[in-house]
Amino acid sequence: MPTERYREVFENNKKWVESKLNSDKEFFEKLSAGQTPDFLYIGCADSRVPANEIMGLEPGDVFVHRNVANVVENTDLNCQSVIEYAVAHLGVKHVVVCGHYGCGGVKAAMQQADLGLLNGWLRNIRDVYRLHSDELEAIEDEDARYNRLVELNVQEQCINVIKTAVVQKAYGKKGFPTVHGWVYDLKNGYLVDLDIDFDKILKDIQKIYTIA
Ligand SMILES: [Zn+2]
Repeated sequence: MPTERYREVFENNKKWVESKLNSDKEFFEKLSAGQTPDFLYIGCADSRVPANEIMGLEPGDVFVHRNVANVVENTDLNCQSVIEYAVAHLGVKHVVVCGHYGCGGVKAAMQQADLGLLNGWLRNIRDVYRLHSDELEAIEDEDARYNRLVELNVQEQCINVIKTAVVQKAYGKKGFPTVHGWVYDLKNGYLVDLDIDFDKILKDIQKIYTIA
């Protein structure tokens, strides 16, 4: 059974190639020439949240970075390199941080447990909790509190994107990218725009974190 499932992927791949070529004979030729995606999407690694699919976008449209609970960490060379490349070299117009309700990473961070290697990673979310503990602890319903932490985590990770020199420099020079915070709802498939006030956050941030 596991082997069948594995082989199925290659069968699927062949069908996918055929369907793409059926609608456009030069599909792969054009794609292989280069990429100019408008979006950088930073999302959770959760298997239920496929970036391109939920946005209805095609290969070539979105530069994607995913990790556990969509964290943008200052010393994470992986994530920081993705932001640098997408903003400075690909010139993306929008940077999206997309969390999702029902996020296992965020839920784990809310529990008092030793999660081994994940402790350090999830501490980023515990920091978000600490920053907003007054608001969060005033929410009695546990699910509602957890949903709010998902949103606040997205908001804080957006702020972390805006703290980067590459975003501040590009925005100052070209007027983009702008940064957006979204939450995907696993239960109905809809994306919710948190309407992050990019200009205000940038202004506030630049009082302390001005780099550019
Ligand atoms: Zn998640």
